[in-house]
Amino acid sequence: MISVTETEQKILGVYRDFGTESLSFRETLGRILAEDICADRDLPPYDRVTMDGIAIRYSEYASGMRSFRVAGIQAAGEKPLNIEEPGTCIEIMTGAAMPAAFDTVVRYEDIRIENGMVTIHYPEIKQKHNVHYRGSDKQKGCIVVQAGALITPAIIGIAASVGKSELMVKKMPRVAILSTGDELVDVKDTPNEWQIRRSNTYVLEGFLRKFGIRPDLFHITDQPEVIKAQLEKCLAAYDILLLSGGISMGKFDHLPEVLTSLGVDCLVHKVNQRPGKPFWFGAKVNGSVVFAFPGNPVSATLCMVRYGVPWLQKCLGHKSQSDFAVLDGEITFKPNMTWFQQVRLHYDASGVLTATPNTGNGSGDFSNLAESDAFMELPAEKEKFSRGVAYRIWRLN
Ligand code: AMP
Ligand code: MG
Repeated sequence: MISVTETEQKILGVYRDFGTESLSFRETLGRILAEDICADRDLPPYDRVTMDGIAIRYSEYASGMRSFRVAGIQAAGEKPLNIEEPGTCIEIMTGAAMPAAFDTVVRYEDIRIENGMVTIHYPEIKQKHNVHYRGSDKQKGCIVVQAGALITPAIIGIAASVGKSELMVKKMPRVAILSTGDELVDVKDTPNEWQIRRSNTYVLEGFLRKFGIRPDLFHITDQPEVIKAQLEKCLAAYDILLLSGGISMGKFDHLPEVLTSLGVDCLVHKVNQRPGKPFWFGAKVNGSVVFAFPGNPVSATLCMVRYGVPWLQKCLGHKSQSDFAVLDGEITFKPNMTWFQQVRLHYDASGVLTATPNTGNGSGDFSNLAESDAFMELPAEKEKFSRGVAYRIWRLN
């Protein structure tokens, strides 16, 4: 049996690069950018007017002029009006390109217009006011979003603004999820009294979908030949296999020996933790990576959030930070094992993330997961965990 820390190290020590692909920019939300996005023009690309009002020459205002004849009107999207005649202004709208003959915009709120003449009543007009000058944010050719960024709605907007309709992003791995167990029936079936519907498959799928991964789902019976044949096919066709069930001490728990016989090196089997002790992890040299989770749904969920999700984050290039919360309760856990306590999270009055234990009916009670926000990792070395101390958490949502 190995520790949680050692398990984490072994898993994060296996790296897989799934390559890159080019996608329509609208399809890239939540992906990791695999190229720099550069400005194809200066940003903003012209001297952009930021208020509706009039454009004047500041030098005329500075010499004491307060009234100007309106010599034209310019809407956004129109070619700049260049009016050289002294003593004039133009009405100009937000988003318009400032004509070279003018340099300052005065808002409609700060002027009066009568019979084609404008009078400025605002006392403190400043030169270049209300103009967002060309290139003042970014210059043509410079990087506006760096490779490695997680693509957000804002980044999709930036890509659109610089004309990048296709983006290179990190490619998603091919993933197979396989459930095992002769007691398991499909979600659409009515189970006999001694059967249950399989659910782990969909929990694991849910965590993958959060990355944008669309796995293929399979179910295999508990016979070694069936398991072997199906695993052999999947090892050839997928980057990652997520298995559930069949790795404990039972007479029908054949997965570990079958995986080894198919050339998958076992790196982790049995972790000093509860729940999830039977967890198995292995990889083929330069080939598929296999997470074999315990069948117990709470255990499978914990092992996915504690080991599967961080590994995917690392390989896909997601930045992740350790997450902590302050325990709001007293917990005693005697065995010398890491205990993952289900907790509810909330911010207290001073803004501190606080975790309230939510024990439910023990580790078989997976319905309790609906009311938990995270697992709190309570280290093996201690027995008593006191209110007010911060521990690591692993979020379910
Ligand atoms: P196992 O790890 O195969 O010994 O299974 C442990 C427990 O988890 C048993 O009670 C199984 O019925 C249950 N179980 C296994 N696989 C699933 C699954 N895919 N969905 C829900 N429960 C499962
Ligand atoms: Mg089983």
